Amino acid sequence: MTDDIIVVGAGPAGLAAGIASAKKGRETVCVLERNAVPGRKFLISGSGQCNVTHTGSVAEFLTHYGGAKKARFVQPALLFFDPIAVMRFFEQRGVPLLKREDGKIFPKSLKSGDLLNVLVAELKGRGGKLQTETVVKNVMKTESGFLLSTNRGDFRTKKLILATGGQSYPATGSQGDGFRFAVQLGHHLIEPKPALTPVIVRNYPFGDSSGFSFHSVKIGIHRNGKRLQTGQGDVLLTHKGLSGPGILDLSRNIKPGDELHIALIKSEMLTSDLFAGKKTLKNALQRFGIAERFLVQILESLGIVPDQPATETNRETRKKLELALTGYPFVVELPCGWNEAMATSGGVTLEEVNRQTMESRIIPDLYFCGELLDIDGDTGGYNIQFALSSGFLAGKSSSVGAGFETLLYHTSRVSDGGLPPTK
Ligand SMILES: Cc1cc2nc3c(=O)[nH]c(=O)nc-3n(C[C@H](O)[C@H](O)[C@H](O)COP(=O)(O)OP(=O)(O)OC[C@H]3O[C@@H](n4cnc5c(N)ncnc54)[C@H](O)[C@@H]3O)c2cc1C
Repeated sequence: MTDDIIVVGAGPAGLAAGIASAKKGRETVCVLERNAVPGRKFLISGSGQCNVTHTGSVAEFLTHYGGAKKARFVQPALLFFDPIAVMRFFEQRGVPLLKREDGKIFPKSLKSGDLLNVLVAELKGRGGKLQTETVVKNVMKTESGFLLSTNRGDFRTKKLILATGGQSYPATGSQGDGFRFAVQLGHHLIEPKPALTPVIVRNYPFGDSSGFSFHSVKIGIHRNGKRLQTGQGDVLLTHKGLSGPGILDLSRNIKPGDELHIALIKSEMLTSDLFAGKKTLKNALQRFGIAERFLVQILESLGIVPDQPATETNRETRKKLELALTGYPFVVELPCGWNEAMATSGGVTLEEVNRQTMESRIIPDLYFCGELLDIDGDTGGYNIQFALSSGFLAGKSSSVGAGFETLLYHTSRVSDGGLPPTK
């Protein structure tokens, strides 16, 4: 089979690329997907509710992709199809959205399927084809384009968009195939690693307290006695370690053996009146809102008797307590693996991809988008936003061979109210 443009992968990036490149009566566009249904990871995102994007300007978004180099790469895609454009795109197609207090955006129905249906309908409405149960096995460059071998025979195409996602949650279909294709075509990879992952803690004594969480606490990553990075966010105790957005967002930089110092309280909160009065130490400390079971476990791990009268807390014990409560050290056994990671860090190296068009700098007419690239965002909708933005940009670039001016022209139209209507 031959098409003008083939997109491999029907996640948010691939569907967006298909939509932006398809136009009835123009080039033929086909999206190939290994699963029987598109967007399996998209469907489970945000616990099935899909946190599709976040409030905030593009400038604010750029602080959520792990540093200045990544921000520079992401910027043109985000400007081309910005968070407002994403919201309008879905709302104009009949799916109202909900802004949560923390800035996360979900469909009002809290059903990821509602958003997925819009993407699929838009692709088909524009004349794009979606061929499921088609596993791309190998990709070759030919004189006239690309040859794809699949379980359903060979496919030929003039232009190829790879949108195969990363490697996390492999049961959803993202098994890292695109990394292999990219290498076969001459690209280099930054080693793919699990990201947005909980961590397993060494000699973890708090399994009984799993489910307790701390709101917006300071977290420090310490390595070889030095503080490497700090962050702030919610932390959740699990039965074998730590999770929650604060941990997930830092996880791309956490290594086995690192100490994570979690500030359960600020040091100035340990005022002397805490140690006066008739309460036991455990009861006196409850003013900080730390769950009792966890508090008792912390005190016991420090060798402090929880029921001792607060007034009998000597200087040495106060110091120990202060250190523990303002930076309790959790030693990382290891970050969790692919089955628990919500994203992949690493991927197709950014220097080899034109950030204005998503086209390969090595092979003309080859495009990349979404999590396959060496981009991973924080929790909060930043990954799906990038998948959609980079997908729309790759699709639009591939179909019109657009230069930057053409893309800017589309930016103003898109920001003014979603993609132009199909009819
Ligand atoms: C549990 C979980 C919850 C998440 N929640 C959120 C959230 O709320 N908000 C957010 O922003 N991000 C979230 N993410 C991350 C987000 O889902 C991904 O970043 C996003 O789906 C990436 O989109 P993509 O299109 O690049 O890749 P994917 O969504 O992974 O899609 C790639 C597609 O390519 C197909 N494919 C792969 N190889 C082949 C092949 N050889 N042949 C044919 N098809 C192939 C796959 O089957 C898949 O359908 C979550 C991730 C997980 C795992």
